[in-house]
Amino acid sequence: MSHLYFGGVDVVDLAAEYGTPLYITDENMLIANFRRYKDAFDGYYDTDIYYAVKANGNLAILKLLAREGAGADVFSTGELHLARLAGIETDKILFNGNSKSDDDLIAAVESGVKVSVDSPDELDALASVAEQLGKETGIAIRVNPEVSPDVNPKIATGLKESKFGIPYTEVVELCKRAKNMRNISLLGLHCHIGSQILDVSVFRYAADKMLELVTSLHESGIELEFVDLGGGLGIAYRPGEIAPTPAELRDAILPVFKRAEIAPPKLILEPGRSIVGPASILLCRVNAVKHAYRNFVAVDAGFNLLIRPAMYDAYHEVVVANRYDEPGSEVYTVVGPICESGDIIARDRLLPEVRRGDLIAIFDTGAYGFSMSSQYNGRPRCAEVLVKDGHVDLIRERESLDDIIRNQKIPERLMQA
Ligand SMILES: *Cc1c(COP(=O)(O)O)cnc(C)c1O
Repeated sequence: MSHLYFGGVDVVDLAAEYGTPLYITDENMLIANFRRYKDAFDGYYDTDIYYAVKANGNLAILKLLAREGAGADVFSTGELHLARLAGIETDKILFNGNSKSDDDLIAAVESGVKVSVDSPDELDALASVAEQLGKETGIAIRVNPEVSPDVNPKIATGLKESKFGIPYTEVVELCKRAKNMRNISLLGLHCHIGSQILDVSVFRYAADKMLELVTSLHESGIELEFVDLGGGLGIAYRPGEIAPTPAELRDAILPVFKRAEIAPPKLILEPGRSIVGPASILLCRVNAVKHAYRNFVAVDAGFNLLIRPAMYDAYHEVVVANRYDEPGSEVYTVVGPICESGDIIARDRLLPEVRRGDLIAIFDTGAYGFSMSSQYNGRPRCAEVLVKDGHVDLIRERESLDDIIRNQKIPERLMQA
């Protein structure tokens, strides 16, 4: 009976020691995924990699990436806090988002990070915050590049009708306005066309559109320091699926930069999924096997801990981790414990005969897994461990029942009998 090993550790031992559900991240794989970006661009083009914190905001993971030289793409004051705690330098942080409060803008200006401005409204608000604080803030303009990658519409963010970015034809005007504003320093253009993109040609198209803007701005006497093409490179979730590599991304976009008539600015990329996605598994325990309309395998993790299948119809590979070598014998649908019929993790998968107490490992859950988790149905969130060459570190404690009631208040008048 062979067991699944991850990061050199028997996951059956991990379940015994830390309980289930459990997110397990392989440090070596995480670092390798980041270095693949560094290596693809180092020596080719002046490029910074700003890891997208929303994909996985665990501090240990951020710290590892910070040590590798990653910057950060943050979408909230909370993610800014995480990035800074992890030691990511503020001059390598871009504060994104289409709906920033005054408090968000104050946090951005005070910490000295760059801000990606998503509307003229926000530009005015940012300028006045910066003036009040007596500081100058570097900005990028978030561009809607009007490209349609072939991905789930919920994660296509560069469509013309998307809520993100300044309409393409209005970017130059807004840049001219920003250029003349006090306390604002226009540094770059930013876009992000979507996520889980498997065809790199859309990145070339986006790069083309961005450099067209760079050229128009140059003709208006405005020079930029950087173009940020966002994240979005997909990963192979399905067996046999082929994901593009960072080198292929490079080969798609750099020719556009190299043929630009003017000296193009430096490049920033914001990968999230392609760095953390494949580096984690979610390990869960089978609570029941039921032969009904389908053969249901009910495990202890559902969309409270991994919402991607329910929200995006996403596919994740699943295996029986404590009998990893057994051939498949029956078709099962793996479901979670949540009180919703949509709480399905994996449909119609051929697995060895599954029994109560078996362990199911769900692959490629490092991105948008824990970071999108909730306590729905009164379930404390699970623990996370980091594994490396057979060594294990706990990087997040399992939540307790106290965490479910934390911050709740019962009004005094309800306390009487
Ligand atoms: C979500 C997001 C990213 C990361 O996307 P991935 O698909 O995880 O690489 C990068 N930049 C911005 C602005 C984002 O919203």
